[in-house]
Amino acid sequence: GFKCGIVGLPNVGKSTLFNALTRTAAAQAANYPFCTIEPNTGEVAVPDTRLKAIAEIAKSKEIVPTRISFVDIAGLVRGASTGEGLGNQFLANIREVDAIVHVLRCFEDDDITHVEGRIDPVGDAETIETELMISDLESLERRTDQTRKRASGKDKEAATVLPIMDQALALLKDGKPVRGMLADLDAEEVKLLKGLNLLTSKPVLYVCNVAEADAAEGNAHTKAVEAMAADQGAQAVIISAAIEAEVAQLPDEEAQEFLSEMGLSEPGLDRLIRKGYELLELITFFTAGPKETRAWTVRSRSRAPQAAGAIHSDFERGFIRAQTIAYDTYVELGGEGPAKEAGKARDEGKEYVVQDGDVMLFKFNT
Ligand code: GDP
Repeated sequence: GFKCGIVGLPNVGKSTLFNALTRTAAAQAANYPFCTIEPNTGEVAVPDTRLKAIAEIAKSKEIVPTRISFVDIAGLVRGASTGEGLGNQFLANIREVDAIVHVLRCFEDDDITHVEGRIDPVGDAETIETELMISDLESLERRTDQTRKRASGKDKEAATVLPIMDQALALLKDGKPVRGMLADLDAEEVKLLKGLNLLTSKPVLYVCNVAEADAAEGNAHTKAVEAMAADQGAQAVIISAAIEAEVAQLPDEEAQEFLSEMGLSEPGLDRLIRKGYELLELITFFTAGPKETRAWTVRSRSRAPQAAGAIHSDFERGFIRAQTIAYDTYVELGGEGPAKEAGKARDEGKEYVVQDGDVMLFKFNT
């Protein structure tokens, strides 16, 4: 599955947020099977209002959302890259996630110690980013010498990746994260860079953790974070972990009421989960029938057989074609039958690039 790692300095609200995420998921367990993979990993349902609309038309007994995982990576502190705290271990944990959710403290509270003695989310972000950059720089320097030797020894693979490594090294030496070069690379080069598995090449979402009163509008700290994120081509969301913790414990109706009192239209966690999904460049397709309407996740730009493979590897191996109806068409026309009659159920083959919202039915050999 796809994983987001939650990072941040101590006492910024990571655990509060993670617990709210998993408690929400646990509360939904009656409808959606939820599992805790490890103590610090939780799978959460991706909220998607389209599921209900499809299920009503298809008269499905059940709705099954798709899921992504969040991992609580606690313990990053200044000096982590030199082994401070449990530094190296945490950096290794980050290496295993697909995207980083970086929690920043944007609330004032004299009772809660700030490890650096002041509230400065942009400074905090730089502290963590610096540790990640130092770690990348060391790991890259170690590998580049080897690769350079192999490249001069006519190793083709080494020769292809070397310029990417050199470009990344130059950025890091200049004190900049590697993700800055992504926009200028072509698809092949992006693959090579991702293959290096550098921490600062992973996409980042900043989470501004604010006091309850600032949940709707944010504050001066969140504005500073948003400016920084925009500068980096990254994203930011404003969330009050304290509100989320409370909402996660309330029954649905009370939760709605509580949220609207706070000036919010939906739980911040829903926004966080959706942003995480965007960050990972994932899209959703649906399957619909009397038994269930179900959402499935694939990487954007995936082809039809890969989508079939998300359901079962046999479907991918034996893929013949996919009957595909766009979500809007499915809802406008009133389902599979009418869409077929109107000639709007397309027969797509192996090369078809799956679009977000496609309602699909696979034909395959067993
Ligand atoms: P972590 O070390 O980053 O995992 O931080 P925790 O989630 O353990 O939070 C540290 C402390 O800050 C706890 O006492 C939380 O109750 C408190 N805290 C978390 N979020 C908020 C918030 O939005 N406002 C206030 N006032 N306290 C918070």
